[in-house]
Amino acid sequence: MVLDAFSVRVALGVVTLTLFVLFFTSYRRTKSPYAGWWGIALLEYMLGNAAFLLNGTLHQTWANPLGNVLVVAGSYSVWAGARTLRDKKAAPWQLAVAPLITAVASFMENPATNVWSGGFVYLGMMTIGIALAAKDLWFIKASLSQVHKGLSIAAGLLAVYYLGRWVAYAIDGPFSEVFRTYFGPAPSGLVSLVLLVTVSFSMTALSSDQLIKGLRERASRDHLTGLLNRGTFLDLAGTELNRLRGTDSSAAVVLADLDHFKAVNDEHGHRAGDAALKAFAEACRASVRSTDLVGRYGGEEFVLFLPGATQERAENVAVEISRRMSTMEVPGGGTFPTVSYGVTSSTPATADLTFMIEVADAALYSAKAQGRNRIVGADRLGAATIADEARS
Ligand code: GH3
Ligand code: MG
Ligand code: MG
Repeated sequence: MVLDAFSVRVALGVVTLTLFVLFFTSYRRTKSPYAGWWGIALLEYMLGNAAFLLNGTLHQTWANPLGNVLVVAGSYSVWAGARTLRDKKAAPWQLAVAPLITAVASFMENPATNVWSGGFVYLGMMTIGIALAAKDLWFIKASLSQVHKGLSIAAGLLAVYYLGRWVAYAIDGPFSEVFRTYFGPAPSGLVSLVLLVTVSFSMTALSSDQLIKGLRERASRDHLTGLLNRGTFLDLAGTELNRLRGTDSSAAVVLADLDHFKAVNDEHGHRAGDAALKAFAEACRASVRSTDLVGRYGGEEFVLFLPGATQERAENVAVEISRRMSTMEVPGGGTFPTVSYGVTSSTPATADLTFMIEVADAALYSAKAQGRNRIVGADRLGAATIADEARS
């Protein structure tokens, strides 16, 4: 028995439309990139299947290739969505290549009379697109819920099914009994139907994971500069220091405070002040390693935690930050404020983050007292003296 392709396609179209409306509503509310890509995929599947309904009419000559292209594009949109869950992007050309190749192949094999024009390429591209989505879904970080593993398996099974279609098409052709019974439009429509519903069901979990992740990220960052905020900096640096305790490498803390910053605001306005803060954050980011932590400690005060750094390296980082600041252009003219630094380092076996910050703060205080625009280093023993000097 061979299922009736037309009815299956109509059913598939109705289900896809319903899901699309649901997702569009959810996307408008959540703006989760994953839900967005899934909505686009559903739209492409829906329009592609609608185009296939024109097979057997005069319009088949353009509608059939268009259907192929849209359905392939849909699978690559699913892949793009899966990548957003790994914080990766799919480049536009990566999304365009498969649909373009499919378009060329479909127009080359008499689409007016041949409903399977470009079928071999179409099935190949579908297999690859779905397999890519399965791969990216599998490698999503485990901190999110485990729904993605199940989804990855479902997508993997679909990729295997499409591989079967591809092989059967290549060996027996689309009009053979085997192909029509197991791999034709009707059975594959049924498989897609089950899958669409499964994937959509898990969508809520995945897009809210994505939302929560985004919110967490935003809550941990300073809004103006994008650096870590004070609380997150202290948490991360504390954890890092604990981790270093088992090793014999050192760690350093740098506190930086912009000089006479109030004057910048007073003379050039608050916006210029904000621009200077952003520029300083940029100079910090450019001067440290990816494993270093940079936070905005308060108004115009910044803090750096440099795991593995010696006192010398930490002071060099401070020199580098100021060097970068001095080469930056101020929007609207003028010069950036100079910066004072307090730097301290310690071996993690004896280090305590709060104490290191206190020592760095005392050194910073001393730098200000000595006339600003300088770096003052302090070690554990010198800290008390420096603090006393600064206060006197
Ligand atoms: P010193 O050299 O002693 O550090 O002098 P200062 O003027 O830099 O220090 P003070 O603590 O007197 O002033 C800090 C100024 O930083 C006051 C405040 O208005 C400004 N400030 C704090 N946060 C922001 C911000 O987000 N944007 C802008 N534009 N200014 C800020
Ligand atoms: Mg200041
Ligand atoms: Mg200050």
